[in-house]
Amino acid sequence: MAAAQITSLSFSAQPIMFHSSLPVAGNGGPRGRPNAFFCPWAPVICHGRREATPHALSDDCDFQDLLSVQHQEALTSVQALFLQHPKSSRGMMTIVDHLKHLCIDQYFQDEIGNVVDSCMDLIRSDNLLDVTLSMRLMREAGYHVSADGVLQKFANGNDDFSLAHSQDIRGLLSLHDVSQLNMGEASLYKAKEYSRKHLRSTLNYLEPNLARYVKQSLDHPYHVSLMQFKARHHLSYLQSLPTRNAAIEKLAVAEFQINKLQHQREMQEVNRWWMDLGLAKEIPAARDQVVKWYMWPMTILEGYSFSKYRIAITKIISMVYIVDDIFDLVATQEELSLFNEAIIMWNLEAADSLPSYMISCYKALYNITNDIADMSMKEHGLNSINHLKKAWATLFDGFMIEAKWLSGNHVPAREDYLRNGIITSGAPLLFMHLLFMLGHDITEENNDHMSRIISCPAKIMRLWDDMGSAKDEAQEGLDCSYKELYLKESPHGDAEEHMLEMIAGEWEGLNRECFSRTRSSLSPTFIRASLNFARMVSVMYGYDHEHRLPVLEDYTRMLLF
Ligand SMILES: [Mg+2]
Repeated sequence: MAAAQITSLSFSAQPIMFHSSLPVAGNGGPRGRPNAFFCPWAPVICHGRREATPHALSDDCDFQDLLSVQHQEALTSVQALFLQHPKSSRGMMTIVDHLKHLCIDQYFQDEIGNVVDSCMDLIRSDNLLDVTLSMRLMREAGYHVSADGVLQKFANGNDDFSLAHSQDIRGLLSLHDVSQLNMGEASLYKAKEYSRKHLRSTLNYLEPNLARYVKQSLDHPYHVSLMQFKARHHLSYLQSLPTRNAAIEKLAVAEFQINKLQHQREMQEVNRWWMDLGLAKEIPAARDQVVKWYMWPMTILEGYSFSKYRIAITKIISMVYIVDDIFDLVATQEELSLFNEAIIMWNLEAADSLPSYMISCYKALYNITNDIADMSMKEHGLNSINHLKKAWATLFDGFMIEAKWLSGNHVPAREDYLRNGIITSGAPLLFMHLLFMLGHDITEENNDHMSRIISCPAKIMRLWDDMGSAKDEAQEGLDCSYKELYLKESPHGDAEEHMLEMIAGEWEGLNRECFSRTRSSLSPTFIRASLNFARMVSVMYGYDHEHRLPVLEDYTRMLLF
């Protein structure tokens, strides 16, 4: 897993106290609308819709002290909104849309489900906003909706979108949102192009707050961008409107504060673990960015009850980065072979044959993985250790292949490189651990779907990383890249354009996997983790011309400091 670096932020974990409320909770239950999230204080707020997993409250009872009356009142007030409008109405859909944009929809899954079930009426209307918003909500809920069929009514004689809608800002914003949920449909390519073009052209005459919101939506499109990052901008926009919804705003603010507090606590724990481990001192050539590595699980895995999973996943990610650097920067070919053999053997005695700088890393990796296997056995009765061992062996194999290519000056074919690059992204290994932590097993039925839902974000990551708008400052390895290989084969080609097209194709594949109710039994939490991973990639690798990661910097400030 190659890394990016934030250049200007300090990662000291200073606690910030808020007049905070209760944390958010989630579970990894079977796929289906009502099981996506739950509140740890469900009997108080959520009217008993969901039950906590056994660990949800046991370790974190102190969070209950932070229960805010404000937060509860806001939840109750928002819940009451669902009774104020007919289910099938634009007003109701707009409320649902705001809850989703603000990342507080998890509390109202049943109510939202009822609204979405009623959207069928509005999808038949002739209004661009009604049609596109209901279409999006239905697709997100797993309904099969034919975009080409639904959007046909807005076409002119040439099958392009009619200019009649080019001034409808809310309609265009909604069209732009739904165009991101493309599963390879021609109408959604056109929708994206049309909405972008006309939204851009409005920027100069819109009132400033709306113009800012439109620009933000164009720069960070719905669905493919980090939702938590966008939520802050969405709230600012709502706060600028003449008619405001106090309950929704209050809930959103309380939610941000709770999440921030929890992330700060987790970050401190991760920091302590990393310092105690001492790997940064033992292998000074390797990267030392544990807090930034924590940003991955912080983003991927949402929900109060997943705190210890986020911490465990951070440890796994740390090991991937360190092993990557050992392969690229530190070890000789002979040492790498010993390392690889020790991983296959998978026992602590195997560490005796390793050079001293590798021993702590090997032991840490071994212990962390076994701890996760124990966790999945204890919590879900799943025997995962053989799968996890195999995932590590596969990753090491991938690194060995890269090392051999490099040492033998061998130039692999693009396809071979990419196939291996998906493995060495570390993403499949991460998802394998997450899968068992969330209580899933690998079965014949879910194997193909699961492979795709993992390989799409992994490929997106590899391609973004290899576009290499800037090399990671902290990692001086001599990795090959897809971009170089493409340019070797097609010296006059546009590598970046080609790779962006490939990334768009992977997003379509991921959408196909994620928006089908019937495709699998994977939990919404796992599916959302895969989407969040893909969303995070451009933030982690989106360098500007000054070799900085501006979105990551903003995101970090918003969510952690
Ligand atoms: Mg490498």
